Amino acid sequence: MKKIAVIVPCYNEEEVIVESYRRTKQVISLLENPAEIIYINDGSKDRTRALLDEIADSDPSVKVLHFSRNFGHQPAVTAGVNHCDADLAVIIDADMQDPPELIPEMLTLRDREDANVVYCVRKSREGEGVFKKFSAKMFYRIMNYMSEVEFPLDTGDFRLIDRKVMDEFDRFKERGKYIRGLISWVGFKQVPFYYEREARLAGTTKYPLSKMLKFASNAMLYFSKKPLKLAAGLGFLAVIIGLLLAVWFTLGKIYGFSNAETGWTSIITIVTFFGGVQLLTVGVLGQYIGILFDEVKARPEYIIDEKKNFRKKKEKGKEANHVSARNVEKVEK
Ligand code: UDP
Ligand code: MG
Repeated sequence: MKKIAVIVPCYNEEEVIVESYRRTKQVISLLENPAEIIYINDGSKDRTRALLDEIADSDPSVKVLHFSRNFGHQPAVTAGVNHCDADLAVIIDADMQDPPELIPEMLTLRDREDANVVYCVRKSREGEGVFKKFSAKMFYRIMNYMSEVEFPLDTGDFRLIDRKVMDEFDRFKERGKYIRGLISWVGFKQVPFYYEREARLAGTTKYPLSKMLKFASNAMLYFSKKPLKLAAGLGFLAVIIGLLLAVWFTLGKIYGFSNAETGWTSIITIVTFFGGVQLLTVGVLGQYIGILFDEVKARPEYIIDEKKNFRKKKEKGKEANHVSARNVEKVEK
């Protein structure tokens, strides 16, 4: 019997966490498989920590990782996968926008197709504003244009992955993880599962515009070198325009159809245009240098303050943040 883990990142989710646990627990207790829930408390400032501790104290099949501060949604999911020793894992949001009641169907689909990944595709999104829907739709399409890898459209992190994929995922060293992209990138057999995305149970989104923009730019920069190519293309275009203008003004002077020397408009326009092109190009370069800077520092992606209901380590200092639970076991043996 395959063991199943449900991985749930939580940030300030006091309004939903108890109901979220109740629904998830109900679903997994009906499965034949052994199952557990791994909550990652991403440095919540509200009562999420206390509530999760209560849940973990009353239910030993609930494991909890408390981060030392807010590291973000993607590091939280990463920690969940790194600490998962189950054969199958479902990554799901705490706010029940992705209904846990779909898990049995996802498992059936996995068994039928013998798939390594079942990724959930949103047919519709309830309770989200026009801007969120539009920006999300645009984002997935631009990502596909920019990236060298083909991603399934309208797919979040809500998915079922097997041990093979988790083991590969644990090997990723990069810090700015775009998880849905990385899981596509891994390959193996991946099948879609279509569903209606519901509205948030309660509370507000934990992805304000600033986090959304960071998420999108990280995804773009980590998965694509196209911005660099576009910057180079823009430089090339500027050179062509410069050459054409030179020819135009020279001929104009010879044949008398240009009054270039009397006007400064053309000069100002050209200076501004080329200044803009240069700054933009340097800016794009700077973004990649920023990423190199972060990657070279190689700081841990997240810091764990406390673990609940995880088996005790036998030896001190063996468990690194980036080593999967399963690898740790191997080391300890
Ligand atoms: N989340 C997190 N850390 C963050 C932001 C969000 O762990 O810094 C969690 C959040 O608790 C939720 C999931 O990530 O379980 C998705 O967040 P949310 O539902 O607010 O995003 P939306 O669905 O609005 O895009
Ligand atoms: Mg949500």
